[in-house]
Amino acid sequence: MSQIGMQDFSIHIWHWLPLFFAFVIGGVTGSFIGVVTRRLPVITGQSEHPKELEGQNTTEKLTLAYPRSHCAECKKPLRLHHNIPLISYLFLKGFCAYCKKPIGIWSFAIELLCALWWSLCYIQNGLCATSLVFALYGSALLCLAFIDWQTQLLPDAITQPLLWGGLIASALGLSSVPLTVSLWGAVLGYLVLWTVSRSYYILRGHLGMGDGDLKLVGALGAWMGPIPLIALILLACVSGILGALILRLKGRMKAGDYIPFGPFLVFSALLIHTYLNKSAYPYTDLLSQLSKLSN
Ligand SMILES: [Zn+2]
Repeated sequence: MSQIGMQDFSIHIWHWLPLFFAFVIGGVTGSFIGVVTRRLPVITGQSEHPKELEGQNTTEKLTLAYPRSHCAECKKPLRLHHNIPLISYLFLKGFCAYCKKPIGIWSFAIELLCALWWSLCYIQNGLCATSLVFALYGSALLCLAFIDWQTQLLPDAITQPLLWGGLIASALGLSSVPLTVSLWGAVLGYLVLWTVSRSYYILRGHLGMGDGDLKLVGALGAWMGPIPLIALILLACVSGILGALILRLKGRMKAGDYIPFGPFLVFSALLIHTYLNKSAYPYTDLLSQLSKLSN
């Protein structure tokens, strides 16, 4: 390889290697988040045992680490190489290695979304603390979305650290939102939705929105400030209505059925953060470097 060729090769590697690691670490985080989504509502006493733990006397002992991950159907513990995010699912073609029953697509979806989000954080912010903070923020949001979709719960164990995380990220200058703006985002996000929710209760006699949704919007306010929250709520409502329509058309939802709002809040928040970060970073830089290489 000539000297110039070698130099091109190393530029190439230094651009792609961190991106590859971001994808892999995102996948591993997604794998852990899959466990959290199945077990946290049970640990906090808000939900029944998940299917994978049925028939096992683990009520007192259940933690995020115990018992080891196993097949929901045959209960056999997964081997280490069956736990490799994304690859094991593709390798086993979505079936258990022992009983050949289908493994749910959920864990694969969480791992893939997490891996993509971590990659996006790296592409937008580069190799820095901000990338890591936003990668963790998005992972927590994805976790909440999946828990809410499956159990209609948004556990305080995640929404509260998310709120504090937003304020601390601002205080440390790791998010682009100044601390005062972050504080008002949290206060107004919670307060405005609380007022809407309680007014709805007075008028209709039942809650239109869970308290978990209010806490989530408060936490999102801490990460983006009060103004983007307007776009967030609008986007979440529109996507929620579209989601409900699709479910109705597919016959998976009846009139009067409740659709969780959390996943739509999360989808909108991730979209807004992606848009807000767009102008901030070296995506174009990376592309121009690569196009130079290909010439
Ligand atoms: Zn099995």
